[in-house]
Order: sequence, then C-alpha cells, then structure tokens
Amino acid sequence: MTEATATAPDTRKPAEISNARDLFSKFDALIAEREALLATGVRDPFAIVMDQVLSPTRAIIKGKETILLGTYNYMGMTFDPDVVAAGKKALDEFGAGTTGSRVLNGTYQGHKEVEDALKDFYGTSSAMVFSTGYQANLGIISTLAGKGDFVVLDADSHASIYDGCFLGDADIVRFRHNSVEDLDKRLGRLPADALKLVVLEGVYSMLGDVAPLPDMVAAVRRHPNCMILVDEAHGMGFFGAKGRGVYEEQGVEKDVDFVVGTFSKSVGTVGGFCVSNHPKFEVLRLVCRPYVFTASLPPSVVATAATSIRKLMHAADKRAHLWKNSQRLHKGLTDLGFKLGTETPQSAIIAVILNDQAQAVAMWQALLELGLYVNMARPPATPAGTFLLRCSLCADHSDDQVEQIIAIFATAGKATGAIG
Ligand code: PMP
Repeated sequence: MTEATATAPDTRKPAEISNARDLFSKFDALIAEREALLATGVRDPFAIVMDQVLSPTRAIIKGKETILLGTYNYMGMTFDPDVVAAGKKALDEFGAGTTGSRVLNGTYQGHKEVEDALKDFYGTSSAMVFSTGYQANLGIISTLAGKGDFVVLDADSHASIYDGCFLGDADIVRFRHNSVEDLDKRLGRLPADALKLVVLEGVYSMLGDVAPLPDMVAAVRRHPNCMILVDEAHGMGFFGAKGRGVYEEQGVEKDVDFVVGTFSKSVGTVGGFCVSNHPKFEVLRLVCRPYVFTASLPPSVVATAATSIRKLMHAADKRAHLWKNSQRLHKGLTDLGFKLGTETPQSAIIAVILNDQAQAVAMWQALLELGLYVNMARPPATPAGTFLLRCSLCADHSDDQVEQIIAIFATAGKATGAIG
C-alpha cells in the first residue's frame, strides 16, 4: 500500500468516538479507567522502557540506574558469559532465524541439542521445545485433552493453561486454589470412564505460593483415568537438588506425567517446553498445532538455552543464594509492616498486597523514582481482586542490593502511607 492509498489515520481521541459502537466498544470501560488513572499524573506501569540493561539486576530506565526486582530472571543467566558466547557463535554459524516450522525447515542441530539438554536435566525420555512457554501449555493441553475430555485445574492457573483448554475444547473443571479437598471432591463427580488431565503449577506466580503436590497427587490417584501435568515455569532452576522444580523438591517425580516449563525465567532467554517419559509422547510433534504451525526458535536462542540449562544442573550455590535473598526480603518487608502474599517465604516471588489501585500505583511509582523496579499486577490477572506489587528475586542480587531494596520500600511505604 502506498502512502497515497493508505487509510487516513483517525486522530480523534477515544472519548470522541466512544459513542460509535464497533468491535472496540467492549474495551470502553478499560480505556476510561486507564485515562482517568494517567490523568492523575502517574507513569503508566504497563509502558516501562528499559533504555539499557546493565546486568540481570540493573538497568537504566528514563536515564536513572534502577535495581530490577521484577524480572523472573531467577538465576541471573541472561548475562552469563558462556550463555552469551553460545548465542553469538550460533548467530554467526547458523544465521538470525530459521524461517520455518520444526516439522519443515525449522529443526537445526541446536534444536536437537536443547532437547537433549532438557532430557538430561529432567532425566526423561522425551523433550519437545516450543517457541514460548505460553505455546507449550497451549499446545500440550489442547492436543492431549479434546472434546469429551476433562481438564481439572486450579482456579488460579496461568492464562496459557486456560487458553489451552479453550483451544482443545475440553470441559474445564476448576478447584479452589491449592485445595486438595476440593480437587478430590471435583474429581469424584466426574464420570469414571472419562479421560482427565489434572494441571497443577509448582509455584503460583501471583502470590508466590507453592502447591502441596504430594497431597494433590495422592488425591488424583484415588480416581481413575487421570494424567498429571505440572507447570514448573517458576520452579525450574530454583527448587530441588537438581533444579527441576517443586515436583522434584517434594519427591513426586514418578507421579507426574508431563512437566511444562519456560526458558523465559531461570533459563534467561525465550522458549517453552514439555518433558515426559510417556512412550507415545513423540506423536505430539505431528498433531500439536502450536508446535506445527509456527516458526521455530532462532539458532542463537536455542544455543543460549542449551548452555544455560546445562549450567543450571550445577547451580547449587546460586540456588542457596537465591533462597537466602528471598528469606531476607520477606523478613525485611514483613518487619516494615507490609502485607505479603504468603506468611512465610515459599519461593523467589514476594507479593506485596496493597489496599487498592490508587495505593498500588502510587507505591509502584514511588519505588521507581527511588530506583527500584517491581511488577504491578491487578485484576483480572490477580486472585481475589487484589492489587499487588510483585517482587521476584535473582540469585545475582547482592546482599547490599537486598538491603537497598528494603530501605527503598521503607521510604516509599512511608511517603505513600502504605505503611505507618
Ligand atoms: N506458565 C506460567 C505459570 C507462567 O507464569 C508463564 C509466564 N509468566 C508461562 C507459563 C508462559 O511462559 P512464557 O513467558 O515462556 O510464554
């Protein structure tokens, strides 16, 4: 399309066109809420730009050096010299992208290598890599559970898990967050001969709480025709002696049929995967639409992921330091009087619960102005309509940085009235 034939841009403000009903009308309330918020002069929490990233824990945002406490970069692998070197080498040797799906021209040596690294990391017979963790859940859940099957999931499940159910057209049965009793009760109501996929997460990312997997597995085993999938997006790298996730730490490896994970957190790049010991698992490569009908990951990404995953097998010191950081921050914020998502530290995610949107935004902005970046989270992503500031620690946060973080929270909390 030339400039002469292009549609003229609509320069009207959303308010001016709000009366004209069209497919955007359903967003009117959201647009109005957002405009009202920005009119108070606050910065847009969902439009932050990292001008420069200096390390896994530091970036320049609007000219200011800022401590990063909202990245899910748990193990600090994004700047690991071996990981970066592997990416550069692959870029030189294999080019910038594959321009194709895994089942056509998009499987390179590097894709095999990262799947081998995952099989070694998890000790499984199969590993299948997707372009994101979102697509891994979308693909695996929708392909396993179709019309007439049931997906039984925690009410607080990640959006990719819900979307996998919608794509596959399975019946969704939700149980109360982390309630073994409710899981058991709901499974008991399903037809015995129906096929069921129970989807659990090791760590729930909004509040940072961990699932009671042994009790849940025991409940599932009381019912026929169930398979279990655990999403270890936030557990991989950190939990378990081998870093496999909460299901390793809690000793239920033998009971879990599928583990889904991501490269976008502890691994430090982008991508998703599913590992399994099921003898028929490989057939999924032929029938899983979010695997077949999309381009594969670029060579540099799979090379960085493979290198990172192999290093994470021997990262006990990093795991210990991350745990120490999480405990110190949890105690520091509790002592200051903040209300947190969990009473005791359970993971590297620490959620600070604020009274309402105005307080959450004020606090988020005050932290940013003092040089600390955290994630702002709001309904519908959050449970029970809460407004949260989500902090995720990194193994590379130094003791000094954790002290600074607590001091910044104290100043911002007093300035905004979030603490007394
Ligand atoms: N599962 C869970 C539990 C997640 O929190 C996320 C991302 N936040 C994903 C899956 C999707 O991962 P990705 O970023 O690789 O798409």
